[in-house]
Amino acid sequence: NKQIILKEYVSGFPKESDMVVKTASRGLEERHLVKNLYLSCDPYMRVRMRKMEDSYVESFTPGSPIIGYGVARVLDSGHPNFKKGDLVWGITGWEEYSVIKAQESVFKIQNTNVALSYYTGILGMPGMTAYVGFYELCSPKQGEYVFVSAASGAVGQLVGQFAKLLGCYVVESAETKEKVDLLKNKFGFDEAFNYKEEDLEATLKRMVANMDNLVQGMPKLKLVWFIVFIYKKNGIDFKFFTFFGNEKMVFTYFQIKFSLSPPPPRLATIHAATAHLSENKELATLTIDIFLQKSVATPLIKIFPRYFPNGIDIYFENVGGKMLDAVLLNMRLRSRIAMCGMISQYNLEQPEGIHNLFCLITKRVRMEGFVVSDYYHMYPKFLDMILPHIKEGKITYVEDIAEGLESAPAALIGLFVGHNVGKQVYVLVKI
Ligand code: NDP
Repeated sequence: NKQIILKEYVSGFPKESDMVVKTASRGLEERHLVKNLYLSCDPYMRVRMRKMEDSYVESFTPGSPIIGYGVARVLDSGHPNFKKGDLVWGITGWEEYSVIKAQESVFKIQNTNVALSYYTGILGMPGMTAYVGFYELCSPKQGEYVFVSAASGAVGQLVGQFAKLLGCYVVESAETKEKVDLLKNKFGFDEAFNYKEEDLEATLKRMVANMDNLVQGMPKLKLVWFIVFIYKKNGIDFKFFTFFGNEKMVFTYFQIKFSLSPPPPRLATIHAATAHLSENKELATLTIDIFLQKSVATPLIKIFPRYFPNGIDIYFENVGGKMLDAVLLNMRLRSRIAMCGMISQYNLEQPEGIHNLFCLITKRVRMEGFVVSDYYHMYPKFLDMILPHIKEGKITYVEDIAEGLESAPAALIGLFVGHNVGKQVYVLVKI
C-alpha cells in the first residue's frame, strides 16, 4: 500500500522533498498483525483484572481480549524493522490473531535454536525479572546466603540458579513435595523446604544472642537436653529444653503440660530418652518416651532445620505476607531484599499487614521494589549472558505447558493455588 506522506508542516512554498512516498500496510502504522503461537500466564495479570487508576499497569478492558505476554509470528507489519515471517515476543492478546503495537516491549526473536516457548519464560519477561532483580538490585557476592520464595516458578527457579552460578548458598521454598524435590534434585539448590508444612518462624528464625552462643558453643554435641519438672496442684507441668549442637538446627524449647489424676507421689523413672534426626535433615524428629510409674506419655516433637544460622544476605521476594514477616526477622546486617512480587496478596481485598518492618532499620536492610519493563534496555546484555549458559547446560528451565486457548483461564488461575510446576505457558501453535 503506497502512500504519499507529508513529512513536516511546511512554511513558504512547498517542495517535493516535503513529501515522501512510503509503502505501508493499511491500518498497521507502527503495528504488527500477528498469529499468536505461545501465550504466557503471569501473576501480575490478576492485578490487571481489577479496576485501578494510577497503577503501574492498566486494568484490562471488560469485553476485550485479555492482554499478556506471548510469542507470535508477524503476518504483516507497519513498522520498517519488521517483515512478514518474523518471530516476536512481547505484549499481545489472548486470541488467535492480534494487532499489536510495535512498541519497546515487543522484541524480534533472533535466536531460534531454543524452544520458542522460552521467550515467554527464561528468555522473556520472567527471565529479565530474575536477572534484573538479582544482579541489579541485590548486589550479590560469592558465598552469600540467598533465600528465594515461590522458587519453582518462572522467576524463582532462575534466581536460584543465578545465585548458585555465583557461588552463593541457596535455600528455596515451595509448596509441595514434588516442587521441593525439583528444587533440590533438578536445580541442586543447597536446601529447599515446604513452607506450608514447616513453621516459618522456627525454620528461619535466628535465636536470641545468648541462646545462639550456647548452641554454637557446643558444636560437638548432637543433642543436649534436660527436663525441668514443675509440680502443680492437680497435675504436672513438664518443661523440655532441647539444645542442638548442629549449627543448622533450631534451638527448641517445649513446654508440655498434662495432668495426672491423682497426681503421682513422686517421679519414678525416666525410662528412656531417644532422639534421632531424619536422614535428609529436612525434618528431624525427636521422640522422648517418658515412663512415669505406670503412666506413659509419648510426645512427638518436631525439630526444624535451621537454614540461616547467621541470617539471610539476600531475599528475593515473590510472595509477601507471612513469609516476608518471618524473613525480616532473619535478615543479616546490611542485607538486601529485592521486592519482585507478592502473589499471596493479589487475591485479597485487604492486603495483610507486615509487622516486622522495624528490622529494616535495626539491620540496615536495603529493600527495593522494581518493575521489569523499566529495564528492557538491558535485554541484549541479558541475552549475551544467558544464551551461552543455556547452550552449555549450566542453566536449565522447567516449563508447565498447557494446550489450546480454552485451557488458558484454568492455567492462569492455577498460578494462585500453585498448580504450575515451572513456568506456566500455553501453546496455540506448536513450532
Ligand atoms: P510462578 O511461576 O512462581 O507462579 C506462581 C507461584 O506462586 C505458584 O506456583 C505458587 O508456588 C506461588 N503461590 C501462589 N499463591 C501463593 C500464596 N498465596 N502464597 C505463597 N505462594 C503462592 O510466578 P512467577 O515466577 O511468574 O512470578 C513470581 C512473582 O514475581 C510473582 O509475585 C509475580 O507477580 C512477580 N513478578 C514481578 C515482576 C516485576 O516486574 N516486579 C515481573 C514478573 C513477576 P508454590 O506452589 O510454591 O506456593
